[in-house]
Amino acid sequence: MAYDDGNIFAKILRGEVPCKKVYEDEYALAFHDIRPLAPVHVLVIPKGPYVSLDDMSATAAPEVIGAFFRAVGETARILGVIDSGYRILANIGSNAHQEVMHFHVHIFAGAPLGPMLRKI
Ligand code: AMP
Repeated sequence: MAYDDGNIFAKILRGEVPCKKVYEDEYALAFHDIRPLAPVHVLVIPKGPYVSLDDMSATAAPEVIGAFFRAVGETARILGVIDSGYRILANIGSNAHQEVMHFHVHIFAGAPLGPMLRKI
């Protein structure tokens, strides 16, 4: 799937749509999810135009991928959730219910989060 720069996260990166920023560097931006599913729910997005982890892991330079995941860890430290713990999650494609076609990692924290997934 080709990247479409009309998606909402591309607009946030261009400053066309506001966000509640947690962290930003050359490679990544982290901001609060607009519809939180946990007491702490933050999204970390790469600044490059990647549809998903599949796209980014296949096409981005290793240092870009590494810098992105450093930013995920740094965001969690800024949020102060290391001692209590947190969960990261990324939806890729339709079975995972990916809604925004710009790669993003969710950080959930702030309360016991229960099991990873509903039992099947
Ligand atoms: P996903 O299902 O993994 O694609 O998740 C997309 C996430 O983006 C959802 O949790 C939405 O609540 C969140 N979201 C959508 N629009 C915005 C926005 N403008 N600012 C912050 N979060 C958003």
